[in-house]
Amino acid sequence: MTKHVFISGGVVSSLGKGVVSASLGRLLTSRGLRVSFLKLDPYLNRDAGTMNPYQHGEVFVTEDGAETDLDLGHYERFADVTLGRKNNVTTGQIYGEVLDRERRGYYDGGTVQVIPHVVDTIKAAITCAGEDEPDVLFVELGGTIGDIEGMPFIEAIRQFMLERPKNDTVLLHLVLLPGLPAGGEIKTKPAQHSAQKLRECGLHMDFLLCRSEQPMHAGVREKLALYANLRPERVIDVPDVKLIYDIPDKLRAQALDDALCHRLDIAPGIGDMEPWRAFARSAANGGRSLRIAAVGKYTGMADSYKSLGEALIHAAAARDAALKLDWIEAEDLERGDPSAILALYAGVIVPGGFGYRGALGKMEAIRWARETRTPFLGLCYGLQCAVIEFARNVCGEANAISAEWLDDEMFDRENCWVTLLDNQGRATPRGGTLRLGAQPCVLTPGSRALAAYGGERVSERHRHRYEVNPGKVALLEANGMLVTGRHPESGLVEIVELPGDQWFVATQAHPEFKSTPLKPHPLFLAFVDAAKAGIRS
Ligand code: GLN
Repeated sequence: MTKHVFISGGVVSSLGKGVVSASLGRLLTSRGLRVSFLKLDPYLNRDAGTMNPYQHGEVFVTEDGAETDLDLGHYERFADVTLGRKNNVTTGQIYGEVLDRERRGYYDGGTVQVIPHVVDTIKAAITCAGEDEPDVLFVELGGTIGDIEGMPFIEAIRQFMLERPKNDTVLLHLVLLPGLPAGGEIKTKPAQHSAQKLRECGLHMDFLLCRSEQPMHAGVREKLALYANLRPERVIDVPDVKLIYDIPDKLRAQALDDALCHRLDIAPGIGDMEPWRAFARSAANGGRSLRIAAVGKYTGMADSYKSLGEALIHAAAARDAALKLDWIEAEDLERGDPSAILALYAGVIVPGGFGYRGALGKMEAIRWARETRTPFLGLCYGLQCAVIEFARNVCGEANAISAEWLDDEMFDRENCWVTLLDNQGRATPRGGTLRLGAQPCVLTPGSRALAAYGGERVSERHRHRYEVNPGKVALLEANGMLVTGRHPESGLVEIVELPGDQWFVATQAHPEFKSTPLKPHPLFLAFVDAAKAGIRS
């Protein structure tokens, strides 16, 4: 029977509930339990697919092609699980389902209400996420207790906990303990109010997790325990850390996993956290410094390219390099000589992206990497920009563009090296929707991609609408850019690279979504190897 661990948050949002849930998932996985996760997002969007990375951070794509909250990335990376569509539920989906049923006559003339209909639909989603019967299902509620939009979820959690035996469910509440400026006193009042708010909603927390800049002293712990109606050992410190991968150990040190298992009446083995700790140690210390530039458009928001940053951390740690990753705003490269900005770096990455703004800067970065023979890794839009840069500057097609930039008749469709395709694979002004989720790819013998992956057939997650125009591939190859990965059925371009001794590989997929600390992604490892080898000292 699956046990349920609910995680709510108080005081402020973005406290790291996702990392805490993922960290507990890691601790229990290491102890031999099968865990899974559900993220409840109280916003009205059906999914994160249409949300601006500036507001919401990265859109994390699952194997089954769902566009989800970035917390699913934390869960997969920490707990080594593969999640899907059913592991992220939004208010938009819940209401969508209720309203569709109402139109189909499902409610048989009854009045459709938040209680019971919306709340029952949420409870069904929780049950559905646990359908493959993990030992423990973590259910994280986005937002902050007291938010109007979170209320139906809170009520669903209350009912769900009430309907199960006591030792089948547990509630963790994560709050912020703010400190007054200049190293002053830690304040507990917002946390007290948050506990009160939970009680008003009929919920009683089992553990209070406290995020703060400084470790909590005994007096603070006791005061919080009193107000939260808990024993002091149920008040847990979640101190700020340099590296999120240290959080499992911080929780382990306070035996939170033991207490949780005890409360849920499960008795897993002691487990082995040593491989994880070894990774966290090398990620924190590293060897020689390795400077990588990532050139993108949403660089002002740290979470926009979350998985990419993490994939680089995993690979650098595996190769004993001290990663220094800088985000470069693509448009800055459109003004003046890119060398002035890029010369410091041992490797360049152009990640996924959308739209024309910044595309010229990305192509400047790619051109610089190509001409200076600096290792280059292109991801999704990064591949598309690499193809157009090559068309323009090597194939002599100065007007080469992507159909994505055709917002008026300014460009000629003939010049679309990256385009929309119809279902016969012909360039067309109208395309389908996004190509999403896991797609196979066959690699060419002798290629760098094959050397990196070590196997001919691979699968990676996709999220894009445009494709390299099949009609231009012969011209690309005649000029020296090789297509070294193709979709086995459609023949679509999946990977391109440049021959010779420069490491220049671009993929239409998003390999960053599959990298984990204990299994760094082969393409990132190969890129880090190349960048390390080429450090100009
Ligand atoms: N904008 C490009 C497309 O839709 C690339 C998308 C991406 O990088 N994820 O094809």
